[in-house]
Amino acid sequence: MPAFSELGLCPELLKAIEEQGYTEPTPIQAQAIPLVLEGRDLMGAAQTGTGKTAGFVLPILQKLLHHASTSASPARHPVRALILTPTRELAVQVEESVRLYGKHIPLRATVVYGGVPMDPQTQALRRGVEILVATPGRLLDHVQQKILHFPQVEFFVLDEADRMLDMGFMPDVKRIINLLPKKRQNLLFSATFSEEIKRLADSFLQNPVMVEVARRNSVAEAITHIAIPVARERKRELLAYLVQDRDWNQVLVFCATRLGANRLAYQLNKDGVHATAIHGDKTQSEREVALEDFKSGKVRVLVATDVAARGIDIEALPRVVNFDLPGAAEDYVHRIGRTGRAGAKGEAVALVSPDEQERLEAIEAMIKFKIPRELIPGYEPDSRVVSSMIGAPDHSHGRGRGGERSSSGRSERGSLDGGGSRESFRDRGERGGRGERGARPASTSPSRSSASRPSTPSDPIFSAPYQPSSGTAGSASTVVPAKVVQNGPKRQVAALLGGFPKAKP
Ligand code: AMP
Repeated sequence: MPAFSELGLCPELLKAIEEQGYTEPTPIQAQAIPLVLEGRDLMGAAQTGTGKTAGFVLPILQKLLHHASTSASPARHPVRALILTPTRELAVQVEESVRLYGKHIPLRATVVYGGVPMDPQTQALRRGVEILVATPGRLLDHVQQKILHFPQVEFFVLDEADRMLDMGFMPDVKRIINLLPKKRQNLLFSATFSEEIKRLADSFLQNPVMVEVARRNSVAEAITHIAIPVARERKRELLAYLVQDRDWNQVLVFCATRLGANRLAYQLNKDGVHATAIHGDKTQSEREVALEDFKSGKVRVLVATDVAARGIDIEALPRVVNFDLPGAAEDYVHRIGRTGRAGAKGEAVALVSPDEQERLEAIEAMIKFKIPRELIPGYEPDSRVVSSMIGAPDHSHGRGRGGERSSSGRSERGSLDGGGSRESFRDRGERGGRGERGARPASTSPSRSSASRPSTPSDPIFSAPYQPSSGTAGSASTVVPAKVVQNGPKRQVAALLGGFPKAKP
């Protein structure tokens, strides 16, 4: 790996990098920085968590260095680089990165996104800004108000293009591209490259170089995956138990629906676990407060839907929990990309109910290894389904060889061709009602107090009658690791083996 100092970056940037504590470039940075400096268009197959932001921000800052000016005149600060992101959270983070890496260079950056008043953004834009980070809709609002023009744009970055597509932003993106000068350098980043993304890339990239990131070697190998079989109606109870019993802090939990996320956060609070929900129904400031509280450790569990969680960047997030398994297997890869970042260790925990077994198998087929199962005493699902749940096929190695491989996650090339049937932005997370019906609002850990209950506004959802669950929370504090279960007494093994479907070739 070349050192940052060998990549052709100026001393001001090297100083900022050093102040960030980065010792060497990540693989995407080592590949992308020289190519962008050469002036090439780029197609980057890279997810959040690979260091891709610095991969495009650093060379853009370097190439804009000759425009740096301390002049107060807005005319001296036209937009030179436009970076589009699908979500406001990601936009804010990218702009923070621009400020961080560019702190010793007098280039101006700002961010515009929807859901907040336009005025402060308008004022910042009027003062002049070289690097503009934006979500598409709000950017077009400013264009319509004649606040923004792009005659001097030299760089255009489309970040997380696959999410743009998912969220229905492509018409806006195309409109924006048509407003830009023909002569410019283009960079497109996407975690997946479906046919549609490739067509989009063809439509505006000039002779691009494809840069793929070996996330599999660099980051995600630090992630341990665990699948815990559990009845759907006991998931919440189990989650509260795990958070308390295992002393989990900073847990990002994914739910399928806004309703489910709200309800789960509410019930966790009732269980004495400080939790908050983040999703599209919340205002921008509510989302920011939730994120800040989570980052600072004030809130232990952040419950999110896929759309809201996109772009959340928290240094060294130790644990991601899939409370509901995602409908599209590639979303699993996106979700777990929140942990195990930049070499830190991470754990991806999936709470799997019997009806989600197929989803789990689809995920395993995509990541190409079998996720170890862990049964939590007192929370095992019905004995009639448990054997088939812990005996899912190992798509990568066939039965008996799974132990050779670590449980580390790998976003294999397969994911780049993902495509598949995806939920639309509107569909995703809006299908109501699945889930915690019947969950018991009792404390799951009698040994711990529920005293630290934050006040959570009551919601009519919760006045619906509930059915007590059949079992009570197990008081056992030990768990049975997957291998113990799988290597258990002969009788059990025979039953389990009987439950194995044939391994796929
Ligand atoms: P990104 O994929 O751009 O969202 O970056 C993921 C995380 O990696 C961010 O928190 C960055 O601060 C961090 N990061 C970026 N580049 C490096 C590097 N060269 N060394 C260590 N951490 C980095």
